[in-house]
Amino acid sequence: MKEASLVLRNQLSHDFSIIKNAKTIVMIEATDWADELPHHKKKIVLHFSAMRHFSDELLKEGIDVIYYPMCDNQDQVFKELKAKDKITLLHVLEPSEWGVLDEIKKLCKKHEIELQVHPSEDFLYEEDEFNFQKPPLMETFYRFMRKKTGILMSGQKPLGGLWNFDKENRQKAPSDLKVPHKISIKPDKITLEVIKEVEKRFPKNFGKLEGFDWPVTRKEALKALDDFIEHKLKLFGPYQDAMLIGQRELFHSLLSPLLNISVLSPLEVIEKAEEAYHKKKVTLASCEGFIRQILGWREYVHQVYKANMPKYRKLNFFEAKGKLPDFYWDAKTDMRCIQESVQAVIDDGINHHIQRLMITGNFALIAGISPQEVNDWYFFGYLDAFDWVVTPNVLGLSLYADGGMIATKPYASSAGYIQKMSNYCSNCKYEAKTTLDEDSCPFNSLYWNFIDEHKKDFKKNPRMALMVKIWDDKPTKDQKQILEKAESIKKKLSSKKPL
Ligand SMILES: Cc1cc2nc3c(=O)[nH]c(=O)nc-3n(C[C@H](O)[C@H](O)[C@H](O)COP(=O)(O)OP(=O)(O)OC[C@H]3O[C@@H](n4cnc5c(N)ncnc54)[C@H](O)[C@@H]3O)c2cc1C
Ligand code: SF4
Repeated sequence: MKEASLVLRNQLSHDFSIIKNAKTIVMIEATDWADELPHHKKKIVLHFSAMRHFSDELLKEGIDVIYYPMCDNQDQVFKELKAKDKITLLHVLEPSEWGVLDEIKKLCKKHEIELQVHPSEDFLYEEDEFNFQKPPLMETFYRFMRKKTGILMSGQKPLGGLWNFDKENRQKAPSDLKVPHKISIKPDKITLEVIKEVEKRFPKNFGKLEGFDWPVTRKEALKALDDFIEHKLKLFGPYQDAMLIGQRELFHSLLSPLLNISVLSPLEVIEKAEEAYHKKKVTLASCEGFIRQILGWREYVHQVYKANMPKYRKLNFFEAKGKLPDFYWDAKTDMRCIQESVQAVIDDGINHHIQRLMITGNFALIAGISPQEVNDWYFFGYLDAFDWVVTPNVLGLSLYADGGMIATKPYASSAGYIQKMSNYCSNCKYEAKTTLDEDSCPFNSLYWNFIDEHKKDFKKNPRMALMVKIWDDKPTKDQKQILEKAESIKKKLSSKKPL
Protein backbone atom coordinates (compact mmCIF):
# COMPACT_ATOMS: atom_id res chain seq x y z
CA MET A 1 0.00 0.00 0.00
CA LYS A 2 1.35 3.44 -0.95
CA GLU A 3 -0.21 6.44 0.72
CA ALA A 4 -0.08 10.17 0.02
CA SER A 5 -1.62 13.40 1.29
CA LEU A 6 -3.66 15.55 -1.04
CA VAL A 7 -3.07 19.25 -0.31
CA LEU A 8 -5.64 21.71 -1.63
CA ARG A 9 -4.81 25.25 -2.74
CA ASN A 10 -6.06 26.75 0.53
CA GLN A 11 -4.25 24.29 2.80
CA LEU A 12 -0.67 25.54 2.48
CA SER A 13 0.50 25.08 6.06
CA HIS A 14 3.54 23.07 7.11
CA ASP A 15 1.85 22.58 10.49
CA PHE A 16 -1.15 20.61 9.20
CA SER A 17 -0.95 17.01 10.42
CA ILE A 18 -1.34 15.27 7.07
CA ILE A 19 1.49 17.40 5.69
CA LYS A 20 3.83 17.06 8.68
CA ASN A 21 3.49 13.29 8.65
CA ALA A 22 3.58 12.73 4.90
CA LYS A 23 6.23 11.06 2.78
CA THR A 24 4.39 11.81 -0.44
CA ILE A 25 2.22 14.83 -1.18
CA VAL A 26 -0.06 15.41 -4.13
CA MET A 27 -0.78 18.97 -5.29
CA ILE A 28 -3.02 19.78 -8.24
CA GLU A 29 -3.41 23.25 -9.72
CA ALA A 30 -7.01 22.57 -10.66
CA THR A 31 -8.27 25.17 -13.12
CA ASP A 32 -11.99 24.33 -12.99
CA TRP A 33 -12.84 26.95 -10.33
CA ALA A 34 -11.21 29.72 -12.36
CA ASP A 35 -13.19 28.68 -15.44
CA GLU A 36 -16.57 28.35 -13.72
CA LEU A 37 -16.44 32.03 -12.74
CA PRO A 38 -13.93 34.53 -14.18
CA HIS A 39 -11.85 34.77 -10.99
CA HIS A 40 -9.43 37.70 -10.70
CA LYS A 41 -6.19 37.04 -12.56
CA LYS A 42 -4.14 38.11 -9.54
CA LYS A 43 -6.03 35.62 -7.38
CA ILE A 44 -5.12 32.75 -9.71
CA VAL A 45 -1.49 33.89 -9.64
CA LEU A 46 -1.52 34.15 -5.85
CA HIS A 47 -2.91 30.64 -5.39
CA PHE A 48 -0.80 28.87 -8.00
CA SER A 49 2.41 30.70 -7.17
CA ALA A 50 1.91 30.02 -3.45
CA MET A 51 1.31 26.35 -4.28
CA ARG A 52 4.50 26.11 -6.37
CA HIS A 53 6.55 27.76 -3.64
CA PHE A 54 5.02 25.49 -1.03
CA SER A 55 5.83 22.46 -3.14
CA ASP A 56 9.47 23.64 -3.46
CA GLU A 57 9.68 23.99 0.32
CA LEU A 58 8.37 20.44 0.77
CA LEU A 59 10.86 19.08 -1.75
CA LYS A 60 13.67 20.79 0.18
CA GLU A 61 12.44 19.01 3.32
CA GLY A 62 12.88 15.73 1.46
CA ILE A 63 9.18 15.08 0.87
CA ASP A 64 8.22 13.54 -2.42
CA VAL A 65 5.76 15.89 -4.21
CA ILE A 66 3.60 14.81 -7.12
CA TYR A 67 2.67 18.14 -8.67
CA TYR A 68 0.27 18.89 -11.52
CA PRO A 69 0.56 22.48 -12.83
CA MET A 70 -2.40 24.14 -14.65
CA CYS A 71 -4.47 21.01 -14.59
CA ASP A 72 -7.65 20.86 -16.68
CA ASN A 73 -8.32 17.18 -16.15
CA GLN A 74 -8.43 15.90 -12.59
CA ASP A 75 -9.87 12.59 -13.67
CA GLN A 76 -6.65 11.89 -15.59
CA VAL A 77 -4.62 12.90 -12.50
CA PHE A 78 -6.38 10.39 -10.28
CA LYS A 79 -6.01 7.74 -12.97
CA GLU A 80 -2.23 8.37 -13.02
CA LEU A 81 -1.98 8.49 -9.24
CA LYS A 82 -3.29 4.96 -9.15
CA ALA A 83 -1.71 3.49 -12.28
CA LYS A 84 1.64 5.29 -12.42
CA ASP A 85 2.36 6.36 -8.84
CA LYS A 86 0.68 3.30 -7.33
CA ILE A 87 -1.14 5.37 -4.70
CA THR A 88 -3.79 3.32 -2.94
CA LEU A 89 -4.60 5.54 0.04
CA LEU A 90 -5.09 9.29 -0.01
CA HIS A 91 -5.36 11.51 3.08
CA VAL A 92 -7.18 14.82 2.87
CA LEU A 93 -8.11 17.47 5.40
CA GLU A 94 -11.81 18.28 5.32
CA PRO A 95 -12.11 21.03 2.68
CA SER A 96 -13.74 24.29 3.77
CA GLU A 97 -15.62 24.68 0.48
CA TRP A 98 -18.94 22.92 0.15
CA GLY A 99 -18.98 20.25 -2.60
CA VAL A 100 -15.20 19.80 -2.89
CA LEU A 101 -15.08 16.69 -0.73
CA ASP A 102 -17.81 15.02 -2.82
CA GLU A 103 -15.74 15.61 -5.95
CA ILE A 104 -12.65 14.07 -4.34
CA LYS A 105 -14.69 11.12 -3.06
CA LYS A 106 -16.08 10.51 -6.55
CA LEU A 107 -12.63 10.54 -8.16
CA CYS A 108 -11.19 8.24 -5.49
CA LYS A 109 -14.07 5.82 -5.85
CA LYS A 110 -13.78 5.75 -9.64
CA HIS A 111 -10.06 5.05 -9.53
CA GLU A 112 -10.22 2.73 -6.54
CA ILE A 113 -8.13 4.83 -4.20
CA GLU A 114 -9.06 4.64 -0.54
CA LEU A 115 -9.75 8.07 0.99
CA GLN A 116 -9.20 9.10 4.60
CA VAL A 117 -10.74 12.42 5.55
CA HIS A 118 -9.24 14.21 8.56
CA PRO A 119 -10.85 17.06 10.50
CA SER A 120 -9.90 20.47 9.12
CA GLU A 121 -7.19 22.33 11.01
CA ASP A 122 -7.59 25.86 9.68
CA PHE A 123 -10.12 27.21 12.21
CA LEU A 124 -10.16 27.71 15.96
CA TYR A 125 -13.75 26.81 16.87
CA GLU A 126 -14.20 23.06 17.20
CA GLU A 127 -17.00 22.63 19.77
CA ASP A 128 -20.69 21.94 19.45
CA GLU A 129 -21.50 24.80 21.79
CA PHE A 130 -23.91 26.57 19.40
CA ASN A 131 -26.45 25.57 16.80
CA PHE A 132 -25.42 27.57 13.74
CA GLN A 133 -28.59 26.76 11.86
CA LYS A 134 -30.02 29.34 14.24
CA PRO A 135 -26.81 31.28 14.82
CA PRO A 136 -26.16 33.02 18.12
CA LEU A 137 -25.36 36.73 17.97
CA MET A 138 -21.78 37.21 16.77
CA GLU A 139 -21.09 39.03 20.05
CA THR A 140 -22.17 35.97 22.10
CA PHE A 141 -19.99 33.70 19.99
CA TYR A 142 -17.03 36.09 20.19
CA ARG A 143 -17.18 36.28 23.99
CA PHE A 144 -17.28 32.49 24.08
CA MET A 145 -14.16 32.38 21.91
CA ARG A 146 -12.36 34.92 24.09
CA LYS A 147 -13.11 32.85 27.19
CA LYS A 148 -12.19 29.60 25.47
CA THR A 149 -8.84 30.83 24.18
CA GLY A 150 -8.01 33.21 27.03
CA ILE A 151 -7.12 35.86 24.45
CA LEU A 152 -7.30 39.40 25.87
CA MET A 153 -8.72 37.95 29.09
CA SER A 154 -7.97 38.40 32.74
CA GLY A 155 -9.44 35.23 34.24
CA GLN A 156 -13.08 35.15 33.15
CA LYS A 157 -13.18 38.93 32.59
CA PRO A 158 -12.16 40.83 29.44
CA LEU A 159 -8.94 42.82 29.72
CA GLY A 160 -9.71 46.45 30.36
CA GLY A 161 -13.17 45.53 31.67
CA LEU A 162 -14.89 45.84 28.27
CA TRP A 163 -15.60 43.39 25.44
CA ASN A 164 -15.92 46.12 22.86
CA PHE A 165 -14.19 49.45 22.24
CA ASP A 166 -16.29 50.66 19.32
CA LYS A 167 -16.76 54.05 20.94
CA GLU A 168 -13.02 54.77 20.70
CA ASN A 169 -12.76 53.23 17.25
CA ARG A 170 -14.52 54.10 14.00
CA GLN A 171 -13.48 57.70 13.48
CA LYS A 172 -13.55 59.64 10.23
CA ALA A 173 -10.06 60.04 8.72
CA PRO A 174 -8.70 63.48 7.84
CA SER A 175 -7.98 63.81 4.09
CA ASP A 176 -4.27 64.46 4.72
CA LEU A 177 -3.83 61.45 7.03
CA LYS A 178 -0.39 59.85 6.65
CA VAL A 179 -0.76 56.15 5.90
CA PRO A 180 2.30 53.86 5.88
CA HIS A 181 3.06 52.24 2.52
CA LYS A 182 1.65 48.80 1.84
CA ILE A 183 4.30 46.10 1.78
CA SER A 184 5.25 45.18 -1.77
CA ILE A 185 7.00 41.93 -2.71
CA LYS A 186 8.86 41.77 -6.01
CA PRO A 187 7.70 38.70 -7.98
CA ASP A 188 10.45 36.06 -8.24
CA LYS A 189 11.12 33.69 -11.14
CA ILE A 190 8.35 31.26 -10.14
CA THR A 191 5.74 34.00 -9.79
CA LEU A 192 6.77 35.61 -13.09
CA GLU A 193 6.30 32.25 -14.78
CA VAL A 194 2.82 31.83 -13.25
CA ILE A 195 1.90 35.38 -14.32
CA LYS A 196 2.81 34.49 -17.92
CA GLU A 197 0.81 31.26 -17.78
CA VAL A 198 -2.25 32.95 -16.26
CA GLU A 199 -2.22 35.69 -18.90
CA LYS A 200 -2.16 33.00 -21.59
CA ARG A 201 -4.63 30.54 -20.03
CA PHE A 202 -7.14 33.05 -18.54
CA PRO A 203 -6.98 36.10 -20.85
CA LYS A 204 -10.66 37.00 -20.34
CA ASN A 205 -10.79 36.65 -16.57
CA PHE A 206 -11.62 39.65 -14.39
CA GLY A 207 -9.04 42.13 -13.12
CA LYS A 208 -5.60 43.44 -13.89
CA LEU A 209 -2.51 41.33 -13.71
CA GLU A 210 -0.01 44.19 -13.81
CA GLY A 211 1.65 45.10 -10.54
CA PHE A 212 1.31 41.74 -8.78
CA ASP A 213 3.20 42.20 -5.52
CA TRP A 214 1.58 39.83 -3.02
CA PRO A 215 3.48 37.60 -0.60
CA VAL A 216 3.47 34.04 -1.93
CA THR A 217 5.62 32.24 0.65
CA ARG A 218 5.35 31.81 4.39
CA LYS A 219 8.49 33.91 4.86
CA GLU A 220 6.99 36.77 2.86
CA ALA A 221 3.64 36.41 4.61
CA LEU A 222 5.36 36.68 8.00
CA LYS A 223 7.08 39.83 6.75
CA ALA A 224 3.68 41.27 5.81
CA LEU A 225 2.29 40.32 9.22
CA ASP A 226 5.19 41.95 11.08
CA ASP A 227 4.88 45.05 8.91
CA PHE A 228 1.20 45.37 9.78
CA ILE A 229 1.79 44.90 13.51
CA GLU A 230 4.67 47.39 13.49
CA HIS A 231 3.21 50.12 11.31
CA LYS A 232 -0.57 49.81 11.03
CA LEU A 233 -2.19 48.06 13.96
CA LYS A 234 -1.82 51.14 16.14
CA LEU A 235 -4.33 53.07 14.05
CA PHE A 236 -6.42 50.10 12.91
CA GLY A 237 -9.15 50.75 15.47
CA PRO A 238 -9.64 54.49 15.05
CA TYR A 239 -9.79 54.32 11.23
CA GLN A 240 -11.30 50.89 10.81
CA ASP A 241 -14.47 52.23 9.14
CA ALA A 242 -12.95 55.25 7.40
CA MET A 243 -12.63 55.59 3.63
CA LEU A 244 -10.33 57.96 1.75
CA ILE A 245 -9.81 58.56 -1.95
CA GLY A 246 -6.56 56.97 -3.10
CA GLN A 247 -5.99 55.11 0.18
CA ARG A 248 -7.17 51.63 -0.58
CA GLU A 249 -6.43 49.74 2.61
CA LEU A 250 -5.69 52.54 5.12
CA PHE A 251 -4.73 50.73 8.34
CA HIS A 252 -6.22 47.36 7.44
CA SER A 253 -3.93 44.34 7.41
CA LEU A 254 -4.48 42.87 3.91
CA LEU A 255 -3.88 39.49 5.53
CA SER A 256 -7.13 37.76 4.48
CA PRO A 257 -5.79 36.37 1.16
CA LEU A 258 -2.91 34.80 3.13
CA LEU A 259 -5.00 33.56 6.05
CA ASN A 260 -7.47 32.00 3.63
CA ILE A 261 -4.82 29.87 1.93
CA SER A 262 -3.33 28.95 5.35
CA VAL A 263 0.08 30.48 4.71
CA LEU A 264 -0.66 32.30 7.96
CA SER A 265 -2.66 30.79 10.80
CA PRO A 266 -5.42 32.77 12.53
CA LEU A 267 -3.95 32.03 15.95
CA GLU A 268 -0.47 33.34 15.13
CA VAL A 269 -1.92 36.57 13.72
CA ILE A 270 -4.07 37.05 16.84
CA GLU A 271 -1.16 36.26 19.15
CA LYS A 272 1.12 38.76 17.42
CA ALA A 273 -1.52 41.45 17.81
CA GLU A 274 -2.02 40.56 21.48
CA GLU A 275 1.72 40.63 22.07
CA ALA A 276 1.92 44.13 20.54
CA TYR A 277 -0.67 45.26 23.10
CA HIS A 278 1.20 43.68 26.02
CA LYS A 279 4.39 45.36 24.81
CA LYS A 280 2.46 48.65 24.88
CA LYS A 281 2.96 49.21 21.15
CA VAL A 282 -0.78 49.53 20.48
CA THR A 283 -3.88 50.46 22.46
CA LEU A 284 -6.27 47.84 23.77
CA ALA A 285 -9.02 49.39 21.63
CA SER A 286 -7.09 48.90 18.38
CA CYS A 287 -5.91 45.44 19.36
CA GLU A 288 -9.35 44.24 20.41
CA GLY A 289 -10.97 45.75 17.27
CA PHE A 290 -8.57 43.73 15.11
CA ILE A 291 -8.72 40.47 17.08
CA ARG A 292 -12.55 40.59 17.03
CA GLN A 293 -12.42 40.34 13.21
CA ILE A 294 -10.47 37.10 13.24
CA LEU A 295 -11.47 35.39 16.49
CA GLY A 296 -15.05 36.58 16.09
CA TRP A 297 -16.25 37.27 12.55
CA ARG A 298 -13.98 34.93 10.62
CA GLU A 299 -14.78 31.94 12.81
CA TYR A 300 -18.45 32.86 13.01
CA VAL A 301 -19.15 33.10 9.27
CA HIS A 302 -17.34 29.82 8.72
CA GLN A 303 -19.69 28.05 11.14
CA VAL A 304 -22.78 29.68 9.61
CA TYR A 305 -21.63 28.48 6.18
CA LYS A 306 -20.93 24.94 7.36
CA ALA A 307 -24.27 24.58 9.08
CA ASN A 308 -26.43 26.02 6.32
CA MET A 309 -25.02 24.96 2.98
CA PRO A 310 -26.10 24.34 0.28
CA LYS A 311 -29.45 26.04 0.82
CA TYR A 312 -27.83 29.22 2.14
CA ARG A 313 -26.43 30.11 -1.28
CA LYS A 314 -29.90 30.33 -2.80
CA LEU A 315 -31.50 32.57 -0.16
CA ASN A 316 -33.21 35.75 -1.33
CA PHE A 317 -35.28 37.20 1.51
CA PHE A 318 -36.23 40.41 -0.35
CA GLU A 319 -36.82 38.54 -3.62
CA ALA A 320 -34.45 40.92 -5.37
CA LYS A 321 -34.11 40.23 -9.09
CA GLY A 322 -32.14 43.16 -10.55
CA LYS A 323 -29.16 42.58 -12.84
CA LEU A 324 -25.70 43.52 -11.64
CA PRO A 325 -24.91 46.91 -13.25
CA ASP A 326 -22.02 47.07 -15.73
CA PHE A 327 -20.08 49.45 -13.49
CA TYR A 328 -19.33 46.54 -11.16
CA TRP A 329 -17.19 45.27 -14.05
CA ASP A 330 -15.57 48.44 -15.36
CA ALA A 331 -15.95 51.10 -12.60
CA LYS A 332 -17.44 53.46 -15.20
CA THR A 333 -19.82 55.54 -13.10
CA ASP A 334 -19.99 59.08 -11.78
CA MET A 335 -20.71 57.76 -8.29
CA ARG A 336 -17.32 58.42 -6.76
CA CYS A 337 -17.72 55.94 -3.91
CA ILE A 338 -18.53 53.09 -6.28
CA GLN A 339 -15.90 54.17 -8.78
CA GLU A 340 -13.14 54.18 -6.13
CA SER A 341 -14.21 50.86 -4.63
CA VAL A 342 -14.71 48.94 -7.86
CA GLN A 343 -11.48 50.27 -9.39
CA ALA A 344 -9.57 48.84 -6.41
CA VAL A 345 -11.19 45.47 -7.06
CA ILE A 346 -10.28 45.58 -10.76
CA ASP A 347 -6.70 46.66 -10.04
CA ASP A 348 -5.89 44.60 -6.96
CA GLY A 349 -8.84 42.38 -5.99
CA ILE A 350 -9.22 44.13 -2.67
CA ASN A 351 -11.46 46.49 -0.71
CA HIS A 352 -11.63 46.92 2.97
CA HIS A 353 -14.65 45.84 4.96
CA ILE A 354 -16.61 49.07 4.89
CA GLN A 355 -16.23 49.54 1.15
CA ARG A 356 -17.56 46.00 0.67
CA LEU A 357 -20.40 46.46 3.14
CA MET A 358 -21.44 50.09 2.83
CA ILE A 359 -20.53 50.96 -0.77
CA THR A 360 -20.75 48.07 -3.25
CA GLY A 361 -22.91 45.89 -0.98
CA ASN A 362 -25.16 48.70 0.18
CA PHE A 363 -25.81 49.91 -3.38
CA ALA A 364 -26.68 46.39 -4.55
CA LEU A 365 -29.01 45.97 -1.57
CA ILE A 366 -31.00 49.19 -2.01
CA ALA A 367 -31.04 48.90 -5.81
CA GLY A 368 -32.59 45.41 -5.52
CA ILE A 369 -29.86 43.44 -7.31
CA SER A 370 -30.14 39.65 -7.24
CA PRO A 371 -28.09 38.37 -4.25
CA GLN A 372 -26.75 35.46 -6.28
CA GLU A 373 -25.41 37.80 -8.99
CA VAL A 374 -23.83 39.98 -6.33
CA ASN A 375 -22.32 36.95 -4.58
CA ASP A 376 -20.75 35.74 -7.82
CA TRP A 377 -19.16 39.15 -8.35
CA TYR A 378 -17.63 39.22 -4.88
CA PHE A 379 -16.54 35.62 -5.29
CA PHE A 380 -14.59 36.10 -8.51
CA GLY A 381 -13.54 39.70 -7.90
CA TYR A 382 -11.72 39.47 -4.58
CA LEU A 383 -8.37 37.85 -3.87
CA ASP A 384 -9.51 36.56 -0.49
CA ALA A 385 -12.82 35.09 -1.65
CA PHE A 386 -13.57 31.46 -0.97
CA ASP A 387 -17.13 30.24 -0.89
CA TRP A 388 -17.11 29.65 2.90
CA VAL A 389 -16.33 33.28 3.62
CA VAL A 390 -17.78 35.23 0.73
CA THR A 391 -21.23 33.65 0.73
CA PRO A 392 -22.21 34.34 4.37
CA ASN A 393 -20.69 37.82 4.17
CA VAL A 394 -22.50 38.76 0.97
CA LEU A 395 -25.81 36.97 1.40
CA GLY A 396 -26.00 37.34 5.18
CA LEU A 397 -24.15 40.39 6.36
CA SER A 398 -24.43 42.61 3.34
CA LEU A 399 -27.66 41.73 1.53
CA TYR A 400 -29.78 40.32 4.37
CA ALA A 401 -30.78 37.57 1.94
CA ASP A 402 -30.93 35.15 4.89
CA GLY A 403 -33.67 37.23 6.53
CA GLY A 404 -31.50 38.19 9.50
CA MET A 405 -29.65 35.02 10.49
CA ILE A 406 -26.38 36.95 10.77
CA ALA A 407 -27.22 40.64 10.79
CA THR A 408 -29.67 42.18 13.22
CA LYS A 409 -30.72 44.65 10.52
CA PRO A 410 -29.98 45.26 6.84
CA TYR A 411 -26.81 47.32 6.33
CA ALA A 412 -28.64 49.83 4.13
CA SER A 413 -27.85 53.51 4.12
CA SER A 414 -28.34 56.70 2.17
CA ALA A 415 -25.41 59.01 1.33
CA GLY A 416 -25.37 60.25 4.96
CA TYR A 417 -23.19 57.42 6.28
CA ILE A 418 -20.81 57.53 3.30
CA GLN A 419 -20.42 61.28 3.66
CA LYS A 420 -19.74 60.90 7.37
CA MET A 421 -17.06 58.21 6.96
CA SER A 422 -15.27 59.26 3.77
CA ASN A 423 -14.15 62.10 1.56
CA TYR A 424 -15.84 60.57 -1.49
CA CYS A 425 -18.92 62.80 -1.49
CA SER A 426 -17.03 66.09 -1.52
CA ASN A 427 -15.31 64.84 -4.69
CA CYS A 428 -18.38 63.48 -6.45
CA LYS A 429 -20.56 64.73 -9.31
CA TYR A 430 -23.60 63.91 -7.20
CA GLU A 431 -24.87 65.93 -4.27
CA ALA A 432 -24.97 63.87 -1.08
CA LYS A 433 -27.40 66.11 0.78
CA THR A 434 -30.30 66.20 -1.68
CA THR A 435 -32.72 63.59 -2.93
CA LEU A 436 -34.86 65.03 -5.70
CA ASP A 437 -32.60 67.31 -7.74
CA GLU A 438 -31.13 66.37 -11.09
CA ASP A 439 -27.72 65.80 -9.46
CA SER A 440 -28.98 64.23 -6.20
CA CYS A 441 -27.08 61.22 -4.92
CA PRO A 442 -28.72 57.99 -6.22
CA PHE A 443 -28.22 56.34 -2.83
CA ASN A 444 -30.80 58.70 -1.27
CA SER A 445 -33.91 57.94 -3.29
CA LEU A 446 -32.95 54.27 -3.60
CA TYR A 447 -32.64 54.08 0.18
CA TRP A 448 -36.13 55.44 0.83
CA ASN A 449 -37.54 53.30 -1.93
CA PHE A 450 -35.98 50.27 -0.21
CA ILE A 451 -37.57 51.26 3.10
CA ASP A 452 -40.93 51.74 1.40
CA GLU A 453 -40.81 48.42 -0.46
CA HIS A 454 -40.06 46.40 2.67
CA LYS A 455 -41.71 48.45 5.36
CA LYS A 456 -43.97 45.61 6.44
CA ASP A 457 -40.90 43.60 7.45
CA PHE A 458 -39.01 46.57 8.84
CA LYS A 459 -41.85 47.63 11.13
CA LYS A 460 -41.27 44.36 13.01
CA ASN A 461 -37.55 45.10 13.47
CA PRO A 462 -36.86 47.52 16.34
CA ARG A 463 -33.62 48.63 14.64
CA MET A 464 -35.49 49.61 11.45
CA ALA A 465 -38.85 50.78 12.79
CA LEU A 466 -37.64 54.35 13.29
CA MET A 467 -36.72 54.70 9.61
CA VAL A 468 -40.15 53.43 8.62
CA LYS A 469 -41.70 56.05 10.90
CA ILE A 470 -39.57 58.82 9.35
CA TRP A 471 -40.67 57.62 5.90
CA ASP A 472 -44.31 57.36 6.89
CA ASP A 473 -44.18 60.90 8.33
CA LYS A 474 -43.04 62.38 5.02
CA PRO A 475 -45.79 64.16 3.03
CA THR A 476 -47.37 61.88 0.43
CA LYS A 477 -46.33 64.25 -2.35
CA ASP A 478 -42.66 63.96 -1.31
CA GLN A 479 -42.90 60.19 -1.02
CA LYS A 480 -44.33 59.98 -4.53
CA GLN A 481 -41.52 62.10 -5.97
CA ILE A 482 -38.85 60.07 -4.17
CA LEU A 483 -40.29 56.79 -5.41
CA GLU A 484 -40.47 58.17 -8.96
CA LYS A 485 -36.85 59.29 -8.73
CA ALA A 486 -35.80 55.83 -7.49
CA GLU A 487 -37.78 54.23 -10.29
CA SER A 488 -36.02 56.37 -12.89
CA ILE A 489 -32.62 55.33 -11.45
CA LYS A 490 -33.60 51.67 -11.55
CA LYS A 491 -34.75 52.12 -15.17
CA LYS A 492 -31.40 53.66 -16.03
CA LEU A 493 -29.69 50.69 -14.43
CA SER A 494 -31.73 48.12 -16.30
CA SER A 495 -31.38 49.95 -19.63
CA LYS A 496 -27.59 50.15 -19.05
CA LYS A 497 -27.56 53.95 -19.19
CA PRO A 498 -24.64 55.57 -17.35
CA LEU A 499 -25.14 56.54 -13.71
C1 LIG B 1 -19.84 41.87 1.30
C2 LIG B 1 -18.61 41.35 1.97
C3 LIG B 1 -17.85 40.36 1.37
C4 LIG B 1 -16.71 39.86 2.01
N1 LIG B 1 -16.01 38.87 1.40
C5 LIG B 1 -14.90 38.35 2.00
C6 LIG B 1 -14.15 37.34 1.37
O1 LIG B 1 -14.44 36.90 0.27
N2 LIG B 1 -13.06 36.85 2.03
C7 LIG B 1 -12.69 37.32 3.25
O2 LIG B 1 -11.69 36.84 3.80
N3 LIG B 1 -13.40 38.28 3.86
C8 LIG B 1 -14.48 38.82 3.28
N4 LIG B 1 -15.19 39.81 3.89
C9 LIG B 1 -14.78 40.24 5.24
C10 LIG B 1 -13.79 41.41 5.28
O3 LIG B 1 -14.30 42.48 4.53
C11 LIG B 1 -12.43 41.02 4.76
O4 LIG B 1 -11.97 39.90 5.48
C12 LIG B 1 -11.40 42.13 4.97
O5 LIG B 1 -11.83 43.30 4.33
C13 LIG B 1 -10.06 41.68 4.43
O6 LIG B 1 -9.12 42.71 4.47
P1 LIG B 1 -8.00 42.75 5.59
O7 LIG B 1 -7.25 41.48 5.59
O8 LIG B 1 -7.24 44.01 5.38
O9 LIG B 1 -8.88 42.79 6.88
P2 LIG B 1 -8.69 43.48 8.31
O10 LIG B 1 -9.66 44.58 8.39
O11 LIG B 1 -7.28 43.78 8.58
O12 LIG B 1 -9.24 42.35 9.30
C14 LIG B 1 -8.39 41.30 9.79
C15 LIG B 1 -8.91 39.96 9.37
O13 LIG B 1 -10.16 39.70 9.96
C16 LIG B 1 -10.87 38.77 9.16
N5 LIG B 1 -12.22 39.31 8.93
C17 LIG B 1 -12.65 40.56 9.14
N6 LIG B 1 -13.97 40.65 8.91
C18 LIG B 1 -14.37 39.43 8.51
C19 LIG B 1 -15.62 38.88 8.11
N7 LIG B 1 -16.74 39.62 8.09
N8 LIG B 1 -15.65 37.60 7.73
C20 LIG B 1 -14.53 36.84 7.75
N9 LIG B 1 -13.33 37.30 8.13
C21 LIG B 1 -13.26 38.58 8.51
C22 LIG B 1 -10.09 38.62 7.86
O14 LIG B 1 -9.41 37.40 7.90
C23 LIG B 1 -9.12 39.77 7.89
O15 LIG B 1 -7.91 39.52 7.23
C24 LIG B 1 -16.34 40.35 3.28
C25 LIG B 1 -17.11 41.34 3.88
C26 LIG B 1 -18.22 41.83 3.24
C27 LIG B 1 -19.04 42.88 3.91
S1 SF4 C 1 -22.61 61.67 -3.27
FE1 SF4 C 1 -23.54 59.70 -3.34
S2 SF4 C 1 -22.67 58.69 -5.14
FE2 SF4 C 1 -21.37 60.44 -4.64
S3 SF4 C 1 -19.78 59.61 -3.33
FE3 SF4 C 1 -21.40 60.35 -1.98
S4 SF4 C 1 -22.67 58.57 -1.62
FE4 SF4 C 1 -21.42 58.10 -3.38
